[in-house]
Amino acid sequence: MNRLFAAASIVALAASMATTSSFAEEKTAWRLFVSDHAEPVINVVDALTGNKIDTLPLKGPASLYRSASGRTVFAVQGKANAVSAVSTGITFEDHGDHGDIEVTAPKLAGTEIAGTKPSHFVEHGGEFALFFDGEGVARILDEKTALEGGKNIREVKTEAPHHGVAAVYGDYVLSSEPNKEKPDELPVGIRVVDQVGKQVGDIHACPDLHGEATSGKLLAFACATGLLLVRDGDQGPAIEHIPYPADLPAGKSTTLLGGKGLQYFLGNYGADRLALIDPSAKDMFRLVDLPTRRVHFAVDPIRPRFAYVFTEDGQLHQVDIVAGRIAQSVKLTDPYSMDGHWSDPRPRVAVAGARIVVTDPLKGQLHLVDATSFTKTGDIPLAGKPFNIVAVGGSGETHATE
Ligand code: ZN
Ligand code: ZN
Repeated sequence: MNRLFAAASIVALAASMATTSSFAEEKTAWRLFVSDHAEPVINVVDALTGNKIDTLPLKGPASLYRSASGRTVFAVQGKANAVSAVSTGITFEDHGDHGDIEVTAPKLAGTEIAGTKPSHFVEHGGEFALFFDGEGVARILDEKTALEGGKNIREVKTEAPHHGVAAVYGDYVLSSEPNKEKPDELPVGIRVVDQVGKQVGDIHACPDLHGEATSGKLLAFACATGLLLVRDGDQGPAIEHIPYPADLPAGKSTTLLGGKGLQYFLGNYGADRLALIDPSAKDMFRLVDLPTRRVHFAVDPIRPRFAYVFTEDGQLHQVDIVAGRIAQSVKLTDPYSMDGHWSDPRPRVAVAGARIVVTDPLKGQLHLVDATSFTKTGDIPLAGKPFNIVAVGGSGETHATE
């Protein structure tokens, strides 16, 4: 409910309850948050109508992350040394037998977390850990803090600046352990600290640690040698190293995504393969070959059986997680070669309800693919170079109080 109308609505609600039992209406809203490759902005687009809702100013071009609840989008501005929280304006509230959706204007939440070279972002158990490579420091906050100005942020320091990561795990914080001889190289393991910052147990070795994800309660980190899996233990997090099986071709994952609805991890494994990782299976690792090199991949939070991968030949592929193979493909863009700089403008993928949305930075377009038929259904033009994208939304009831 819009705050301005809250008082009026209470009156209206009282009136409506007096006359009839329910005026509940089903409402669906999906918003796309799209950053630009060169400009310091986020464009907010209504995914259902294609209309631009607003353009939010930032300090630098941003990588985007959405919270699990969808209430917050974090804009990590690596070159501008800042992370900004955006209130998406879409909130769900559990009313027991149904869920309510409340839709208000998207806006910068007023929380800007400053620090040198912000990089990896991890949400676990409702807490966000932002890692600042230039300081070797993690700044940790919850969603209330993010949406209400950022007054309650705590820090966990590591021993040196490095390209690292941290994650909250219950009362503990897991953080990457820098390579002491060569801090400019990837970290060598995970250190666990308790609430007062005291180290718990030994360092958990994870050479060339890069890539992390959450699936259900499980947390995973990718190492050159395999995965570190983090579960609930008797005394704090239980951390286990699962080596890549010997029969897997040489390679490693350096980016992980966590399945939603199904517990699995999806990682890269070489330039033209994905690794499907099922922590409960006897054969935990399966590889999916891609026709060309991978540009970007995303899991489907609504249809848990599927994930999507965009390849440099301009195709989007639907990956069947259960069957472990590409099920369908659709051509969307001109080729985007993976030669050149890793951060060149190339497509990114997000899932917005019944649609999969792919940015096409060189054409200034968002391409829409129907998730069921897996066919292209339209485009949304967007000025500039639309690059990183996240989607938030869903369906809920609104009680007819306005
Ligand atoms: Zn309700
Ligand atoms: Zn990284």
